[in-house]
Amino acid sequence: MYMPRRHTLISLILALYVPVSAGMPPTPLADITVVLDFKGANSPGTTREMQREATLILGATGVHLSFTNRTEASSHDFSDLVVMTFRGNCKSEPPAPRYDESGPYAVTWTTDGRVLPFGEVDCEKVIQSARSAMWGGDLARAEMFYGRALGRVMAHELVHMLTKSGNHARSGVQRWALSPRDLTGTVLTLSKDDVNRLQAFYHAR
Ligand SMILES: [Zn+2]
Repeated sequence: MYMPRRHTLISLILALYVPVSAGMPPTPLADITVVLDFKGANSPGTTREMQREATLILGATGVHLSFTNRTEASSHDFSDLVVMTFRGNCKSEPPAPRYDESGPYAVTWTTDGRVLPFGEVDCEKVIQSARSAMWGGDLARAEMFYGRALGRVMAHELVHMLTKSGNHARSGVQRWALSPRDLTGTVLTLSKDDVNRLQAFYHAR
């Protein structure tokens, strides 16, 4: 007598449970393709870590990143595409330290006050800054630290491009200035305000 009801209940539980157990990813807020244009030396290890770090930071907002190069980009029609140019040596510490500490790690181009989907990273400045916060065993993992630092700087510029705004935050990746420790420390995320700002921007589109 009770079996059919029990069976129904079990079926309902399974039906509710299946989508969760199947691990279906939520629909991304946006799919952004980042064209990486290296003008100087770069290493696969550093580039991989840079992509991983930027993906992790933007992933908190629901924005999904994929990466390509100029050659691939020219033969495809990408709807949401941004171009990130990397100046200087993105692979290793500059042979002679640069002492011009002023100036940004990276810039996002604007015209008539409009933020364009083009950014430029000064690799040697980022790497020199990251290097100043590394010591001991860190040096054996330099590629990882340089990649992490470049990924955080790239994520910062991507938020400017995606929100089409030059706004900065009081904490996290989107602060106006990032210290060497910010670039290399274990975790640096976007502030809650920045996550909300980016999500609101996409929801309003
Ligand atoms: Zn900025």
